[in-house]
Amino acid sequence: MPKINVTQPFLPPLEEFVPYLEQIWENRQLTNSGPFHQEFEKALAEYLNVKHLSLFANGTLALVTALQALRITGEVITTPYSFAATAHSLLWNNIKPVFADIDPISLNLDPNRIEEAITPQTTAILPVHVYGRPCDIDAIQKIADIYGLKVIYDAAHAFGVTYHENSILKYGDLSILSFHATKVFNTFEGGAIICPDKKTKQRIDYLKNFGFADEVTVVAPGINGKMNEFQAALGLLQLNYIELAINRRQEIDFLYRDGLKDVKGIRLLPLPINTRQNYSYFPIIVDPEYPLSRDDLYQKFRDHNIYVRRYFYPLVSDFPMYRGLVSSAKSNLKVAKIISDSIICLPIFPALKVSDQINIISLIAKV
Ligand SMILES: *Cc1c(COP(=O)(O)O)cnc(C)c1O
Repeated sequence: MPKINVTQPFLPPLEEFVPYLEQIWENRQLTNSGPFHQEFEKALAEYLNVKHLSLFANGTLALVTALQALRITGEVITTPYSFAATAHSLLWNNIKPVFADIDPISLNLDPNRIEEAITPQTTAILPVHVYGRPCDIDAIQKIADIYGLKVIYDAAHAFGVTYHENSILKYGDLSILSFHATKVFNTFEGGAIICPDKKTKQRIDYLKNFGFADEVTVVAPGINGKMNEFQAALGLLQLNYIELAINRRQEIDFLYRDGLKDVKGIRLLPLPINTRQNYSYFPIIVDPEYPLSRDDLYQKFRDHNIYVRRYFYPLVSDFPMYRGLVSSAKSNLKVAKIISDSIICLPIFPALKVSDQINIISLIAKV
């Protein structure tokens, strides 16, 4: 059987990209806010229904810059159940990550655990909408308001997700997106910061371009975080396909749900309420009643050439650069530890064949 990965990047038909390339070759403007960059920025803000956004070369640079833009310092409360980049962006800003446990249903930062982690050094909360499932935004905002903290959402998984028919990206002070090849929407590599006002966007735009405000004025020690014309052109074209891609993912999600709902020991996460999902991941939780351990099931998939992933295992707090922190103690992160040890993400991408999906379901159901 040919190898099946957990995801496969979506690409539009190549011939549709050629005119964009010809245009770039003709313009000879390859980066630095070229015509495709400007057009994509506008089109994307419209599609996502947000006021302002700033494109980036990748999501990690967007995260690092978002923290810079709000001048975050000291300590930031975040989740250990995420991709490495979330906490790494703090270390790159000389900020101390403080891990708090997650909620067992949403798998996002548990608001009830945030308050106890606050110290006089705390300046912000950095939650993640894991698998595109919305955080408890109201509870998080309430805590932020009481303690005067900023909220930056790592929304790398949440492209196109709406909550009560409103973009999930509008909550908090800033949100960041990733358009990495493995994400629902890709520009090979890419990312963005979503911000509420023009002034903040201006500051972010300076920061991603070395701090240049004009030819001779440098207003901040900025970085090179710019998205280039190739990425922006691809992004514009990808926007024509994103609805199709999400609809196809929804079908896959529903077929998994139907096929796995009665398998003893396999737990599915309920679809979040009042949410338009993007079906970016299909996580299953392998409970102790299941005949195989999580890692045995993982290995069984490998033996059948199916490369499922254990997102997120290990916990970020177990990485060598974090495990010495007081907040990384297992006793502080009990829920995250259990989930991390029992999670598997199944293949989900528009080109996944129904026959392969049925095969994946029976590998789980027949043990
Ligand atoms: C992918 C991802 C990032 C990083 O985005 P890149 O575009 O790969 O730099 C950050 N946070 C989370 C949760 C991610 O999944």
